[in-house]
Amino acid sequence: MPEPVLAEVSVRAPAKINLHLGVGPVRADGFHPLATAYQAISLFSTVTARPAEEWSITCTASDDIDVSSVPLDDSNLALRAARLLAEHGGVTTPVSLHIDKGIPVAGGLAGGSADGAAALLACDTLWGLRTPRAQLLELAGRLGSDVPFGLVGGSAAGHGRGEVVTELGDVGTYDWVVLTNPRGMSTPAVYAEFDELTDGQSIPDPEIPAELIDALAAGDVRALAGSVGNDLQPASLRLRPELAEAMQAGLDASALAALVSGSGPTCLFLCEDTGHARQVADVLSAYGRAVLASGPVSGARVL
Ligand code: ATP
Repeated sequence: MPEPVLAEVSVRAPAKINLHLGVGPVRADGFHPLATAYQAISLFSTVTARPAEEWSITCTASDDIDVSSVPLDDSNLALRAARLLAEHGGVTTPVSLHIDKGIPVAGGLAGGSADGAAALLACDTLWGLRTPRAQLLELAGRLGSDVPFGLVGGSAAGHGRGEVVTELGDVGTYDWVVLTNPRGMSTPAVYAEFDELTDGQSIPDPEIPAELIDALAAGDVRALAGSVGNDLQPASLRLRPELAEAMQAGLDASALAALVSGSGPTCLFLCEDTGHARQVADVLSAYGRAVLASGPVSGARVL
């Protein structure tokens, strides 16, 4: 049985955005097949793992992120990740985990998934398991659709429920304004709204637009702006019409593109460069908390 070889390990994992989120018709198992282009952006969650007498989890936040809805019991994704890896690797020594969240909660930025990915890598390192990458990704996929991408980072295609991740070639860095909203949105509620909106329609199999893949490969920000999209956006906007106003304000302030992030309520604004992003963020701060982030950044990394 492997024993901890280090006193503590901290791992930082990024938020994800969906440059394109294609959603197919609901399957018999209740899931919607997805074809998504992910990008990891520079908002991070840091998970620190230490050997302990009992399994435990604590959570604090940098900036003014509200973590009051994050569960501090066995349902926490970081704790579930640690326990799953322990079972897989034959480890019996518990860990205490601490999450320092720099990713808004329930914002469509996969903050919980970043915690799960960070905890997997932190515990793998703490316990000296050296779990092969493919196995770590498989465990990540069992924890949640967006957890494997938290390990991979960069720009990537996601298929299945989003858990089948393939890296996409990209060039350069993109500047985003991330407009967060203090009132989170429930992903299942947005999918239910999507089902209602598309009821009776024939929905084609989702695909990532070829133009988007080409834009990333060429590092062409304007072509990227023309090819981003989110099939969940009409559902999110129907649940929260005020988001459409903020998106229009961003476009009026010269953002190259505006879209809802995942299931929302976070909205994303693609900008020409950091200076341009600052100008757009100034205007958007009337609508919520507007922060600058750039992507792609790497997936979970030991600090
Ligand atoms: P989803 O993955 O459902 O798209 P999201 O990206 O919108 O979610 P998250 O920050 O992952 O947002 O939060 C989704 C839900 O999970 C919220 O109810 C939140 O309180 C909870 N949550 C956040 N962090 C964790 C965590 N580490 N473990 C478990 N639940 C979490």
